Amino acid sequence: MCDDTGWKSIEVDGVSRVTRCDCWHQRSFESLLKGARIPRRYMHCELSNFDDHTDSQRRALKLAARLVDQFPVVDKGLLFYGENGVGKTHLAVALMKEAIRRKGARAMFFETRELLKTVRDTYNNQVDETELDVLRPVLEADLLVLDDIGAEKKSEWVEETLGLIVNTRYSERRVTVFTTNLRDSDNTEPNSVALQLGLRIRSRLKEMCEWVEIAGPDTRELGPHPTSEDIARWEATSPASSKNRGRGGLPQKSAGQARAQLKPRERDGRADLKWPGGRAGS
Ligand SMILES: [Zn+2]
Repeated sequence: MCDDTGWKSIEVDGVSRVTRCDCWHQRSFESLLKGARIPRRYMHCELSNFDDHTDSQRRALKLAARLVDQFPVVDKGLLFYGENGVGKTHLAVALMKEAIRRKGARAMFFETRELLKTVRDTYNNQVDETELDVLRPVLEADLLVLDDIGAEKKSEWVEETLGLIVNTRYSERRVTVFTTNLRDSDNTEPNSVALQLGLRIRSRLKEMCEWVEIAGPDTRELGPHPTSEDIARWEATSPASSKNRGRGGLPQKSAGQARAQLKPRERDGRADLKWPGGRAGS
C-alpha cells in the first residue's frame, strides 16, 4: 500500500492527501507494546475478555474503559484493590494495551517487588545501570501500571523509593494505575494501605487516583470463565470466599507485630519523603 514509506495517499473532499499507513500504526503499536514490558502471562488480557461476574467488576471495567477514552487528559488514575484473582491486574493490563493501541501511549508495566529489586540491584557494583537508569522510564512513562503495590517487604528505603515514584508522577500529572491486595482500613491492621505504605503515600494515592474496589470469585482458584454454578459452589465452600473469610479471624499476633513497628515511625516525624540516593541499604 505504501511501498514501505509508512505513508499512504487518501482522498479527502476530492483533495489528495497523505496519511500514516496501517503498517506504520501496526509497527508503532508493536514497538510500544514491546516497551511496555507486559509479562507473558498477562499478554492475553483485553477489556473485551474481562470476566465480570459482580457489580464491582462491571463498574471497574467501565472506569477502565473511561480512562482509555479520556487518555491522555485524565484527571485521576485508578487504584484497583481487592482479593487475589478478581481481575485487578487483568484490567490494568487491558486498559494499558488499549491506550497503546488507540492513543499511542508510551506505557509501562511493573510488578512493584520486581521494580524495587531492579533498583536495589543497581547498588551492586557488578551492574552498570544506575538507579536513575531504571527509574527514569518509570517516572516518565505516559501511563504506568504499578502492580501489586504493598506486597513488598516494608522498610524505610521501600517507602522512600515508592514515595519518590508516586510523588514525581503526581507532580508531573502523569497517569498511574495501581493494583493492590491491601485494604483501606485502620493503620493497626497489617493488611492496610495506611500501615504497609504509610499515611503519606496513602494520602497522595487518594489525591491522584480513584480507588476502585473489585470483589468477585477467585478465578485463579476457579479457572477462567466459571459458570454461575461454579461461582455458587466456590462461594459456599472456598475459605477465600467473602462468606467464609474471617471465620476464625486473622491471626492477632501479626496485628500486634505491625503495631509495634508503627510507633518509631510516628515519632520519627520527618516532614517529607526524601530520596536517599544510592546505597541506602535494603
Ligand atoms: Zn504500509
